[in-house]
Amino acid sequence: MNTNLLDLDLDGLAAFCEGLGEKRFRATQLFRWIHQRGARDFAQMSDLAKSLREKLAVHARIEGLSVISSHESADGTIKWLFDVGGGNAVEAVFIPEDDRGTLCISSQAGCAVGCRFCSTGHQGFARNLTTGEIVGQLWFAEHFLRGHLKTGERVISNVVMMGMGEPLQNYSALVPALRVMLDDHGYGLSRRRVTVSTSGMVRNIDKLGEECPVALAVSLHAPNNELRDHLVPLNRKHCLEDLLDACNRYLEHAPRDFITFEYCMLDGVNDQPEHARQLIDLVKHHGGTGVPCKFNLIPFNPFPESGLTRSPHKQVVAFAKLLSDAGIVTTVRKTRGDDIAAACGQLAGDVQDRTRVGERIARQRTIMLKPVPAAMAVRDEE
Ligand code: SF4
Repeated sequence: MNTNLLDLDLDGLAAFCEGLGEKRFRATQLFRWIHQRGARDFAQMSDLAKSLREKLAVHARIEGLSVISSHESADGTIKWLFDVGGGNAVEAVFIPEDDRGTLCISSQAGCAVGCRFCSTGHQGFARNLTTGEIVGQLWFAEHFLRGHLKTGERVISNVVMMGMGEPLQNYSALVPALRVMLDDHGYGLSRRRVTVSTSGMVRNIDKLGEECPVALAVSLHAPNNELRDHLVPLNRKHCLEDLLDACNRYLEHAPRDFITFEYCMLDGVNDQPEHARQLIDLVKHHGGTGVPCKFNLIPFNPFPESGLTRSPHKQVVAFAKLLSDAGIVTTVRKTRGDDIAAACGQLAGDVQDRTRVGERIARQRTIMLKPVPAAMAVRDEE
């Protein structure tokens, strides 16, 4: 089987080229052809020696993802559904704004964490994506959009790992993918503009800080362990205190001097003034010094199996005001792409519910009334 070059960061490609008897600068040329120019055919790489192109044709391939469908929203948001084989699919979403183009990409087919408010979590876990499948979403989107928007220039300025999956549960594929995004010979994205979002994989937060620090977003969603155990089952393994300690350690390496806390606003569940007050106390006083942070309040995107509803806008505004008045920078996420089901938490698409986690969670949805049974298996690389 030949090697899919989308699976390799520049060091990996240099090692691969070395195996073919080629020098590192050839790997750099090849890397630029693939990622900066979107080449998929070795024959078009005119500045590579013919002998190298012939070797590559035998030993390597550049294989992106097949697009099952794409939808463009009235607000310019574009969602793609990609086939990753075995009946599995993942989604990526492009969100254009005046000063940036953000691509939200997936790291796993499905997700094992099973957050109560997340439609992806209700599908269960199918498998980890490879590095090439993670990078392939960016590779496709960037080069498609240059043609679609009729610009020869770079379109995607920001990448957020907030699509399907828990990125830090797929750490070994994630880090080379991040390196491709950051590499000046690849996409040249700033570390501040690449965000990994995690539900709280403590040990891999530490590893990421040491090995490839980028901006970090943490899905918090609750101000205390009791509630977070219900909403984010991973909390039973890594409690809030351990998570906030990890956030502070991460900040020693991070390109930004704050952590973004994501907080999905659920009517009557986590959106009351007492929850805001607990949050303020938590992030201001944890460990004596608190955690430098911003809050991003996310309007919940309801789906029937969740049994949850979106907080009224008035409630979201009041909650944001309590945090802001306490000196915490707080934003409310704009919903984008509602007409194509591309907003946060809607990335379920038509992917099969192969593990029937959806049914199990539906049975458990009286979550605020009684304890949830044993946690779903949380697979990780820790
Ligand atoms: S919110 Fe993220 S971690 Fe939680 S179930 Fe959804 S995809 Fe997984």
